[in-house]
Amino acid sequence: MTQIAFIGGGNMATSIIGGLIREDAVNPDLIHVSDPGEEQRQRLEADFKVHTHAENLDAIANATVVILAVKPQMMKEVLAPLAATLTARQPLLISVAAGISLPTLQAWSGCKAVVRAMPNTPALTGTGATGLFASDEVSLDQRNLADTLIGATGIAVWVKTEAEIDAVTALSGSGPAYYFLMMESMIAAGIKLGLSEDTARRLTLQTALGAGKMASASEVAPDELRRRVTSPGGTTEQAIATFEGAHLRDIVQAAMDAAARRAAELS
Ligand code: NAD
Repeated sequence: MTQIAFIGGGNMATSIIGGLIREDAVNPDLIHVSDPGEEQRQRLEADFKVHTHAENLDAIANATVVILAVKPQMMKEVLAPLAATLTARQPLLISVAAGISLPTLQAWSGCKAVVRAMPNTPALTGTGATGLFASDEVSLDQRNLADTLIGATGIAVWVKTEAEIDAVTALSGSGPAYYFLMMESMIAAGIKLGLSEDTARRLTLQTALGAGKMASASEVAPDELRRRVTSPGGTTEQAIATFEGAHLRDIVQAAMDAAARRAAELS
């Protein structure tokens, strides 16, 4: 039986554990979480009936998968006291920490089979989008396991090179903020057009949800969906022409180029 250890029991660990329990994918008895926060540990035990530990070494003792869910700036000091055990046991190591490269994770942990994951914040609601990259030593079974574990927070997509993780960071990692900015802009514009703030906000959020659901459920690509709701001479056409005239596509490309460059600098 696969025993899973989480190092750090904060937001990201909680969303993965919550998803696994919700989907009945893993028996909570097989999950061990370590976190120095007593309140955090009590909450995880109460909510999910998992085992918790104050000491990281206790959580990894029998684990075949170790999920690193601490802040990136803590990673080196968290792994140092675990490296001897990890080197000897060689579990699958999965890191959800932003900006720490796979070779660095291998060097700090002594683990050969390492998966680097780039999740995003909607993971907290089970609608996350995560990019995954595996070291050569990760077996097919381990890949499937990583899929199940990270997939519990939404969708998981494998990329072929580590450089692609920077593109994933620029797209889905930072992407929720792009949509939030669009929502902010639409709410402000709705208010200027005469709607109350409450009405503008409710209509904006539901429209975002509806468009997302429709695009996800549809067989056709977003460009075709857009064409279908853009009648010649209609209102949508006027708005789309305004976006195109302001070179929205170039703006999005420049924004994502900048985010990817920054991701590369940070890792
Ligand atoms: P968080 O602060 O909620 O959780 C981190 C947890 O680590 C805390 O509960 C803290 O008590 C615990 N911790 C601190 N020191 C520790 C130690 N020495 N040993 C074990 N645990 C320790 O942070 P989070 O949002 O869950 O982020 C975790 C990781 O996920 C980060 O590396 C972040 O880059 C990545 N991530 C998070 C999100 C997100 O949406 N929250 C998105 C992308 C990536």
